[in-house]
Amino acid sequence: MNIFQYLQTVRIWKKSFQFGAFLTLLIFIIGFNCVVSLAQTKICTEFSDSGYELAGKTNLFWKQRKLKIRFLNGEEYFQNKVQTISSEWSLYANIKFEFVKQEPSDARISFNSGGSWSYIGNSAEDVSKNKPTMNFGWFDKNTTEEESRRVILHEFGHLLGFIHEHQSPKSEINWNKDAVYKYYDDKFGWSRRLTYENILKKYSKTETQFTTYDRLSIMHYSIPAELILSGKTVGWNTDLSENDKAFAKKIYR
Ligand SMILES: [Zn+2]
Repeated sequence: MNIFQYLQTVRIWKKSFQFGAFLTLLIFIIGFNCVVSLAQTKICTEFSDSGYELAGKTNLFWKQRKLKIRFLNGEEYFQNKVQTISSEWSLYANIKFEFVKQEPSDARISFNSGGSWSYIGNSAEDVSKNKPTMNFGWFDKNTTEEESRRVILHEFGHLLGFIHEHQSPKSEINWNKDAVYKYYDDKFGWSRRLTYENILKKYSKTETQFTTYDRLSIMHYSIPAELILSGKTVGWNTDLSENDKAFAKKIYR
C-alpha cells in the first residue's frame, strides 16, 4: 500500500466512523423519543392470544372466580395501590384477585417504563410464566390518585375480558378518521394499524357481549373535539360507571 492508498483508506475509515456515530446518535434519539412518547401516552394498547383479532371475543372471559396475580417487579407502594384499587371490581363482579408471591399465577404485572397495557381476559393464559400480562408504564410518586384509579381500573377491566368502550358495536362516534390517524401518529408515534386496532375498529355484535354504548365507561378513551366530525367529546373517565358495574355483575355472576 503506497501513501496515497493509505490516506485514502484512512479517509474512508474516518467517514465510516462518522457515519456510524451519526447512525448511533440517530438510533438513540429515535429510541429515546419512543420511550418518551410512550411514557406520555397515558392510554393503553391491548393484547390477546393471536394478535388483535380475538380481542373482545366472548370466550375471553374467565371461567374461574379467583385469579392469582403475581407482581414481577415494582415498589411496594405501587403494588399496594394496584391491589387496593383493583379490588373495586370485585364489589360488582363475582371474581376475586388473589395476589401471590410465586407460581402458579393466572396473570402477572410489571412496572416497566413505557406504555400501560394488558392482555384481554384469559388470553393471559397463553403468556409464558416469566412474562408480564399487564404493565403499568408511567407510575411515579407524582401520579395523582385519580390517574392511578383510571389506569388500574381500566387495565383490570381488560384483565376481566372487557374491550374498549369506544370500539363497542353500539358506539356512535363520528370519527374524523384522518385526524385520528394523524393525532395518534403525531402524539404517540402509533402506526396506522395500532390506531385502527385500538381506536377506530368496531367489534362485531357476534364477537362481544355488549350492553348499550356508555360514554362514561372506564373502558372509554378520552375523545377531544378535533377527532370527531360531530357529536359530544369525552373526557377521561376515572371511575367505574353504572354500566361498568352492571356489566361486570352480569358477566361474572
Ligand atoms: Zn385499554
